Amino acid sequence: MLSGPSGVGKGTVVAAVRRRYPHVWVSVSVTTRSPRPGETDGVQYRFVDTAEFSRLVERGDLLEYAQFAGNYYGTPRGPVEQRLEQGIPTLLEIELHGARQVRGTMPQAQFVFLAPPSWAELEARLAGRGTESPEVIKSRLAQATIELAAQDEFDCTVINDDVEHAAQELVRLIESANGPVA
Ligand code: ADP
Ligand code: 5GP
Repeated sequence: MLSGPSGVGKGTVVAAVRRRYPHVWVSVSVTTRSPRPGETDGVQYRFVDTAEFSRLVERGDLLEYAQFAGNYYGTPRGPVEQRLEQGIPTLLEIELHGARQVRGTMPQAQFVFLAPPSWAELEARLAGRGTESPEVIKSRLAQATIELAAQDEFDCTVINDDVEHAAQELVRLIESANGPVA
């Protein structure tokens, strides 16, 4: 289970894991947010409308879900349970509230916090990505302060200085975990 503030590089590190360690299965979340340029439905996320998201919640199809910066995000339960039963190394990339829900239902999971080398670098990455308006960046940075303060709730921290290095460290942690979820 990987968490960390918006802009730290979670998506980039997870993409590196997919590329370099294809034996690790990465959960695809559902979200009500619109796709960013370069994002493909079914790859980074399954993009749904609010009505469909509510249906998934009502049916109990989500392992966890949360609202973040004005949109909903959730983890489809079935595919995760299937991989865990098969003993496949599994990676979820979710924000703090979702991580706390998973902590309650899957205490054997390993909780990894991805941290920026510095606050200034986090701001620079978020702004540099160029995918959000100044208002949304402000809201995500406010949320980042809360997420950074919760770092101690996690089993360990990986600093995203270099993408390949962070991906390698993350996979090492997944493979050293008792449970198959990292
Ligand atoms: P998140 O998924 O955590 O919100 P992203 O993966 O979208 O973050 O990364 C935010 C920005 O930071 C992107 O423009 C990405 O290219 C850049 N980035 C990610 N990791 C690094 C790194 N180790 N060094 C420099 N830039 C990075
Ligand atoms: P973004 O919009 O930048 O892709 O993601 C915003 C936040 O939502 C990030 O912190 C990301 O980790 C989190 N997120 C992505 N998928 C899920 C999910 O399925 N559940 C939860 N709780 N958070 C998620």
